[in-house]
Amino acid sequence: MTERVVVVGAGQAGARVALELRSAGFSGSVVLVGAEPHLPYERPQLSKEMLTDPAWSTRFMKAQGDWSAAEIDLRLGSPVVDADPNARVVALAGGEELSYDHLVLATGTSARQCDQLAGLTVPIHVLRTIEDAAAIRERMAMGGKILIVGGGIIGLEVAAAAAGTCDVTVVEAGSRLFERGLPAEASEHLERLHAGNGVRFRYDVRPVSASGCDTTLSDGSVESADLVVVGIGVEPPRGIAAMIGLPEGAQGLRVDDRAVTESSGVLAVGDATEQFSRCHNRWMRIETWANANQQAAIAAASITGTAQPAKAAPWFWSDQYSMNIQVAGDSIGEETVLRGDPASGRFAVIALRGGEIVGGTTINVPKDMAAIRKLVGNGIRLERAAIEDPAYKLRQAIPA
Ligand code: NAP
Repeated sequence: MTERVVVVGAGQAGARVALELRSAGFSGSVVLVGAEPHLPYERPQLSKEMLTDPAWSTRFMKAQGDWSAAEIDLRLGSPVVDADPNARVVALAGGEELSYDHLVLATGTSARQCDQLAGLTVPIHVLRTIEDAAAIRERMAMGGKILIVGGGIIGLEVAAAAAGTCDVTVVEAGSRLFERGLPAEASEHLERLHAGNGVRFRYDVRPVSASGCDTTLSDGSVESADLVVVGIGVEPPRGIAAMIGLPEGAQGLRVDDRAVTESSGVLAVGDATEQFSRCHNRWMRIETWANANQQAAIAAASITGTAQPAKAAPWFWSDQYSMNIQVAGDSIGEETVLRGDPASGRFAVIALRGGEIVGGTTINVPKDMAAIRKLVGNGIRLERAAIEDPAYKLRQAIPA
């Protein structure tokens, strides 16, 4: 009988698993099941071009005909509603039942909602889908006041997109921007850049209640707005693990280095998973486009028994105004070393743990990032003086 892989979730990770299976020579049946009605699409555009360019048309990963040509069967707009891991069958919302030899869970995460905003009568959005991005862009184009809850990656990209047309305020629960993901020098640089574009920041406050267009913050102050965008992080998928009989980790579905779960025949990839990150030295969710692609290739290799691809350090990028920021590995570590002058608008911050390079952040120096990713991947140790000297080429320290 023909072997069948069912991939649940048609986002970046799930769609790439299906494509990687074909690249690895898998000749069995591949079914890609998605809850959203659209063909698989790239999400980075949602918080960048889609917010600013009214003529932007959604960038799909492949055209309809390419999926058919690759013999990947799409079941879009039909979430999985039940599963029987013993019989190896999943049931879709439309009533169809699919048996599988291998099941790949790529169910992503959902945007965390802010319940304290329930009394608002102005539009309130998270940003996770094409529909979210289109609604935010339409309202932003009308101008007025926008309140952004969360000074993380979504909040900052939306602020950069809105700054030209709206009066923007960002409310952040922490004491600086994206505190968990960036070193202090990068947060400070981002704040200067945004403030120079008219964005106002409120730190150490969070919404406690809301009514009409007014949001009351934890210090008693009130912010009024015509549009509220919430970017306060994501939540692991609930439900699917229980259906499969998998224990739910605190961060998501726990997988090993081969993207394999504890349940026989079941793999998991992308934002939905909790994995061990060597450079962070802990189990965590790695919510990046690059991780989705990498884990997809790993899962395909596990299924086909082909050689596992080399595992690279976590990495993501963000574009805000004319600034390119890239982050690799654990950007904070035990200590950080500044390389270059933040006032120049081009600098890097390298993170060390026990003397080993475990991560780095670059602002407008992508060349350094190419080297940092390799240094993190190889666990290289480097003298502080060399890191601090912008004339020292980091690539010299990459092992041959
Ligand atoms: P995030 O990056 O985790 O940032 C959320 C921020 O909101 C944190 O600084 C958090 O502070 C703060 N916060 C939490 N609760 C709050 C509250 N009640 N009031 C005010 N602030 C609060 O999450 P995100 O920005 O929502 O991004 C979500 C997802 O989008 C991630 O999976 C990310 O990978 C993805 N994304 C990635 C990119 C990229 O790679 N360029 C771009 C866009 C989106 P604490 O840390 O103190 O809780």
